[in-house]
Amino acid sequence: MSSIDETHDPRRTSWVASAQGHPEFPIQNLPLGVFSPPNGSPRGGVAIGDQIFDLQAGLEAGVFSGAAAAAAEAAAGAALNRLMALGGNPRIALRRRLSELLSADGAERRKVEPRAGQLLHNAADCTLHLPAAIGSFTDFFAGIHHARNGGMRRDPNNPLNPNYKYVPVAYHSRASSVRPSGVPIRRPSGQRKAAEDDAPIFGAAQKLDYELELAVWIGPGNELGQPIPIAEAGEHVFGLGLVNDWSARDVQGWESQPLGPFLAKNFGTTVSPWVITTDALAPFRIAQPPRPAGDPRPLSYLWDETDQETGAFDITLEAMLMTEGLRAKGLPPHRMSASNTTDLYWTLAQLIAHHTCGGCNLGPGDLFGTGTISGPTLEGYGSLMELSGDGQRQITLGSGETRTFLQDGDEVIFRAHCRKAGCVPIGFGECRARIA
Ligand code: CA
Repeated sequence: MSSIDETHDPRRTSWVASAQGHPEFPIQNLPLGVFSPPNGSPRGGVAIGDQIFDLQAGLEAGVFSGAAAAAAEAAAGAALNRLMALGGNPRIALRRRLSELLSADGAERRKVEPRAGQLLHNAADCTLHLPAAIGSFTDFFAGIHHARNGGMRRDPNNPLNPNYKYVPVAYHSRASSVRPSGVPIRRPSGQRKAAEDDAPIFGAAQKLDYELELAVWIGPGNELGQPIPIAEAGEHVFGLGLVNDWSARDVQGWESQPLGPFLAKNFGTTVSPWVITTDALAPFRIAQPPRPAGDPRPLSYLWDETDQETGAFDITLEAMLMTEGLRAKGLPPHRMSASNTTDLYWTLAQLIAHHTCGGCNLGPGDLFGTGTISGPTLEGYGSLMELSGDGQRQITLGSGETRTFLQDGDEVIFRAHCRKAGCVPIGFGECRARIA
């Protein structure tokens, strides 16, 4: 597992001036992604302040060697899958080398700073793409407050299904419609039927919603038929990002029995383009919060002491909404909720161990959503379904507008940050899209 090293040193600063105090991308973060510079082709890059370090240009300039060069080569193309396949050590070698190259005090500064014109691009001038070719996308249901809120209408006394505390519940979602932050989402049409109606109708979804989730980018993965043991599962997490699992609640309500969501979820999913590596997140690892008294202990294939001690993360997540009315009045986005990854009932290693326990193969670039991460109270609810009580409560915005579900022109913005005393805070960048 990645450990704390010189790349996390809070005293380390970068000769890239904008990295100092940058709320997302100081030198301690170094997230990986795929971008196109102006008039250039898609390629691998690393965010540093308001700049992007071009891995292809770095290779051409000969600034990498050994394992770092192999990792940079695997990450320099139009998708990070080949780097994801390599596992932790080359990825860590690349991180340490990048930190050394970009460090203000580093012996390498004089080699790279004069070439900044070739090696760095203004992020604002670049286009960000999906970080990987996504083979499969699985969406879990690991946020227990969201699961409980969703089950309240079915049975207020027993909102969680009997399997919830034993099974990391998920469904296989759709990889083909995942898009990076910034690509608009079209309101889907589908069948819906209100309880009081005799027959369904077809038309534009009326209850369009977002879901605030963590993205998990899978690393090496496994061969078909070869489960990943829980003790090794953490090594298969390449890094994290944000997912907006757009959901048409009226379509979902009618179609989901008995096989689960289908068209309600497959019309579009937005992910943040930067992958925050598990190495960057090492200082923000924490113990999995203890289960409430009376909850069952996970079955043994989902139980590992080390995973329980260090397998969770302390990441604050925020959902914001921008509307035409807020824009017209020059107001900032309305903050809808804030929650934390400690609200996940399962660790990421448990999700991987469960996904593969029957032999299902995961591959580099596969994507997991954790499921909506809601806090225990209204301020933390990570979807409009929960915030509006399925449309029963109006949410009033600073512009005077009200919402229960999303209207055309609304833009949903997710952010995430890690903060801890003695550490430089890091961020995930944005996961943003507007309803077209
Ligand atoms: Ca979801």
